[in-house]
Amino acid sequence: MSEVDDLRARVAEACRVLARLDLTKAATGHVSARIPRSDHILIRARGPGELGVRYTTEKQIIEVNCDGRAVGAIEGGLVTPVEVFIHTAIYKSRPEVNSVVHVHPAMVVLFTICNKPLLPIFGAYDPSALQLVLDGIPTFDRSILVSTPELGDEVARAMGQAKTCMMRGHGITTAGRTIEEAALHAIHLNELAAMNYQAQLLGDPRPISAADQDAFRKIARQSDGASGRIAAAWRYYCALTAD
Ligand SMILES: [Zn+2]
Repeated sequence: MSEVDDLRARVAEACRVLARLDLTKAATGHVSARIPRSDHILIRARGPGELGVRYTTEKQIIEVNCDGRAVGAIEGGLVTPVEVFIHTAIYKSRPEVNSVVHVHPAMVVLFTICNKPLLPIFGAYDPSALQLVLDGIPTFDRSILVSTPELGDEVARAMGQAKTCMMRGHGITTAGRTIEEAALHAIHLNELAAMNYQAQLLGDPRPISAADQDAFRKIARQSDGASGRIAAAWRYYCALTAD
């Protein structure tokens, strides 16, 4: 399998995983990957025969250039997603990023609607999700479709160097060094929101202690992006899509 075909298969798989976990619904949302040594990307396309993100196939992953325009012959009436500019803007401004995820998880969006912060309320329960909130999760304050390069730049500026960004009344964008890392950031952000939501319902959630937050920051610096841990988590989520 060529390098590009491998990326295409992994982008499609990440789409299926994120939709299987209900991080996005129907046909909204997309995963992309930078094609190595080029300024082109692979991204989930929209099309007349599609069944939604949950059932994304490799054929639905198209190549676009850095301006968000499709490259080469596109089959089956597939079109570039309207919000491709979220992806192109982040790739242009962040050379370390090789994959971008944009989805609409209801649980996270609720926090942007109510303007409630996501708090570091757990530790060893889920260190990866905790790490996102310790790193800081910016919010893009607008709720419109990101349908122009200028709006894409606005999102990229709001996100800065963060792994994740919440988008008010809209969804989330995450970025990673690999497809799997970007997708796991989205999954962990959703889990963080789900726990915060349930804790709010139950009572008065309190953040874990400053000392414990510091301990987790230290651990994260020592094991940032441990590939074995990412691979194991990813295998589990991929297996779920076979159910
Ligand atoms: Zn969107």
